[in-house]
Amino acid sequence: MLAAFRPLVRRGPRTLWGIVTDDVIEGLWFLGGLLGEEDRAAAEASELLPGPSDAPFVGGADFRPVASGEATRTRTRVSCCLFYTVRPDEFCRTCPRACSE
Ligand code: SF4
Repeated sequence: MLAAFRPLVRRGPRTLWGIVTDDVIEGLWFLGGLLGEEDRAAAEASELLPGPSDAPFVGGADFRPVASGEATRTRTRVSCCLFYTVRPDEFCRTCPRACSE
């Protein structure tokens, strides 16, 4: 499927697998939150994708605790979510640019 999309989106395989990696992890995390099972979803996502050695996936869940605010955990994306194409002045909450500042 990624090979079929590649010519249309003009991105390399590592970038596309990075998007898949983030969307699997963050999709499970999001659904877990909706169902009131965020802790379980984060644990399952961490078990499913524990780290960068899970080729062709590009990274792991790598959740870390958040000390303040409503969220209890966050992570840093391995790919860009393209949120800037919708709201250029805002960051997504797992943006690598925001997390490194
Ligand atoms: S918030 Fe970060 S990850 Fe999301 S689109 Fe912007 S630069 Fe990419």
